[in-house]
Amino acid sequence: MRIGVLAMQGAYKEHINILRQLGIEAIDLRYKEEFENIEGIIIPGGESTSIGKLIKILDIYDVLKDKVLEGMPILGTCAGMIVLAKKIHNQENTHIATMDIEVIRNGYGRQLGSFNTNESVRYIGENIPMVFIRAPYIKSVGKDVEILSVVDDKIVAAKQDNMLVTSFHPELTNNTNVHEYFVKMIKDRQ
Ligand code: GLN
Repeated sequence: MRIGVLAMQGAYKEHINILRQLGIEAIDLRYKEEFENIEGIIIPGGESTSIGKLIKILDIYDVLKDKVLEGMPILGTCAGMIVLAKKIHNQENTHIATMDIEVIRNGYGRQLGSFNTNESVRYIGENIPMVFIRAPYIKSVGKDVEILSVVDDKIVAAKQDNMLVTSFHPELTNNTNVHEYFVKMIKDRQ
């Protein structure tokens, strides 16, 4: 199994390191052709506007969206969650807009919006360490979306078919549960 981590901007190296730690082959994803040799995609945290622009500049918008619509498993963390959302609160433009969620960017405030906590995530585990950095949260979900975790009345993890998203950064902790669950999603599809 090989997973591609979108390597435009943000915390992609950390995702690659966790996958390799789990014995999974992981590659930087930058070019169209690379989408043909992978079984799963991760969009990391970073800055969603920059990631969204680079996806277009590097001409991978269509292939990325097509793969997700075809059912390839995808994990979006933090900015990656924003890239997948069909609706971004108070913002006109969206990015690949495949997941039926509305997100609020910088939902915890811009400056003091970074904190850590431990909470449970359905299917993934209890006491999962969560690192929030100017994180978005999910304001509302469509009927096909399953809510996996709520922290302080805010939805911070959800799943819709092949799409798994978290507001927090699982790649910035030593806990590998989120990635293990994502690997299971890929295996279940094969
Ligand atoms: N605030 C960023 C954005 O709106 C996301 C932050 C992150 O990925 N840590 O894109």
